[in-house]
Amino acid sequence: MFEAGLLAIATIAAPAAVPRDVHSYAETDKVVVSAVALDLAVDFDRRELAGTAELALDWKDTGARVLVLDTRDLSIEAVDAIDAGGAAHATRFSLRKRDPILGAALEIRLDTPAPRVRVRYRTSPDASGLQWMTPAQTAGKQHPFMFSQSESIHARSWVPLQDTPSVRFTYTAHLAVPKDLRAIMSAPNDTRHPLDGDFRFAMEKPIPSYLLAIAVGDLAARATGPRSAVYAEPSVVEAAASEFADTEKMIATTERLYGPYRWDRYDILVLPPSFPFGGMENPCMTFATPTVIVGDRSLVSLVAHELAHSWSGNLVTNAAWKHMWLNEGFTTYVENRIVEAVYGKAQADEEFILAADELQGELDETPKPDQRLVPDFDGRDPDDAGSDFAYTKGAWLLRTLEASYGRDTFDAYLRGYFDHFAFQSITTDTMLAYLDENLIRKNPGHMTLADVKAWIEQPGVPREAVVPKSPRFEAIAGTRAEWLAGKRRADSLDAKSWNTQEWMYFLDGLPKKLSAAEVAELDAAYHLTGAANAEIARRWYLVAIRNDYKPAREAMAAYMTRIGRRYLVVPLYEALAKSQDGRAFAREVYAKAKPGYHPLTRASIEKALNPKKQHD
Ligand SMILES: [Zn+2]
Repeated sequence: MFEAGLLAIATIAAPAAVPRDVHSYAETDKVVVSAVALDLAVDFDRRELAGTAELALDWKDTGARVLVLDTRDLSIEAVDAIDAGGAAHATRFSLRKRDPILGAALEIRLDTPAPRVRVRYRTSPDASGLQWMTPAQTAGKQHPFMFSQSESIHARSWVPLQDTPSVRFTYTAHLAVPKDLRAIMSAPNDTRHPLDGDFRFAMEKPIPSYLLAIAVGDLAARATGPRSAVYAEPSVVEAAASEFADTEKMIATTERLYGPYRWDRYDILVLPPSFPFGGMENPCMTFATPTVIVGDRSLVSLVAHELAHSWSGNLVTNAAWKHMWLNEGFTTYVENRIVEAVYGKAQADEEFILAADELQGELDETPKPDQRLVPDFDGRDPDDAGSDFAYTKGAWLLRTLEASYGRDTFDAYLRGYFDHFAFQSITTDTMLAYLDENLIRKNPGHMTLADVKAWIEQPGVPREAVVPKSPRFEAIAGTRAEWLAGKRRADSLDAKSWNTQEWMYFLDGLPKKLSAAEVAELDAAYHLTGAANAEIARRWYLVAIRNDYKPAREAMAAYMTRIGRRYLVVPLYEALAKSQDGRAFAREVYAKAKPGYHPLTRASIEKALNPKKQHD
């Protein structure tokens, strides 16, 4: 493989050929898609999108006559080349053999380097990037619901395109949907759009393919600020608007730190509980899990995270998935800065310590090469290869740089970085060259380039990593130790005043094995079984599984059936799978819950329940 970083520097000087991405069949050194026009009908009965995608092409190699697009499980019905005069000519195409990770390349043979091609196609009911839900699977139970999740390489399961973050394009879309339902996309949306079955969208900023997004359902909208709103099913929208009421405060805070918000509106779509992720930073429209709506805004760091992506990720984008720390590490750092500015340093430090502790806990289980910030993703599914290292270790590096150079210097540097690389896709080498020139050489006597490279290239977390202190956590650790030593009763723990993060810290720090009496005493004092707060419940059920506490099972099964967010349910399946009895219980729960799960969640759970199949 050639050195992608060096070519990327050339790309910035003059947008020419784009280096090839191992997770895409696109020959980006020959031709690059610059705009996409979708015209699609959304058919809930057939569970498919059907229509056309017209791609504008920027030929880098004018001698080239083949356009290779990424697809997964698409039925391609026709391909037309569109000439400069707008006339369409049917053209030859073929689908290559399907690869389990990459899908099937669509090879289009052209007589001339046409300025545009139009592909007529339909999606599969099992498209990996779409979830189709029956009315029974929604909160309102009246209407069906569908949504996309394109990151990392699932856009190709609903649009034939160059599915690599190294390519950016603008897009328009015309959607025909059932009347009474609202369609939304990762583009400016209008809260007052009539429900007439006919929706049009235009994203005028160039985005990478993984930020293409669509959702259709019975969606109401509530404004949360001058440029923000919440979209959700009608029964959820009020609670969501109240939980996310600080959105404008967060946008304004981030603008003060890192420059203007460049995407016009920042809306949030609250999805049904089966959404496999916490949030997805689709531009103009974050997709979010309802599991962060807990009534006290204690889990809105999720919004801070997705909003932060408007700078790190959506504006400055990793050019290939092995560089995902450029998206996620930078975003996790910015997220923490937003939480600090809006909710205070104590809260921000608590959140960082929880993440850092979790990362330390993963050091033993994660192969050393995967603890590097740029691991080897070749031949691997980027959905499986990503880890907390990209997020937490990446953020930890930036936190350590901030401590070394001082906040004022580092903030100014980071703001300049976002401006310099705005609307570009870059590699780690490009980032490092800019860091060296603009931070390290200009401010001698602090962290060196070699120090930074050690973070990137070495496993683990370097010893100079800066760790904040939390007096509240220290007090909780003290009372936890007293309870474990039998010096206090569970109901005297002062836990009534704990926030979500403090409960998480308390539960995370319990020893692996507790006595049956201790587990029962905690549950009796705080009713942790059936806890409404999904983060607290997740941790409690892990305690219950480790200690074979059967009274938690019924509520645990209900939790695992209701929620499809991978971070919340997959660890429970993994923990259950460690014992024979637990695995039998987990299989029973999965059989009932499976119809409501997203394809990505199903895949993760099936791996957890059948570990031998993992490395086929
Ligand atoms: Zn993220």
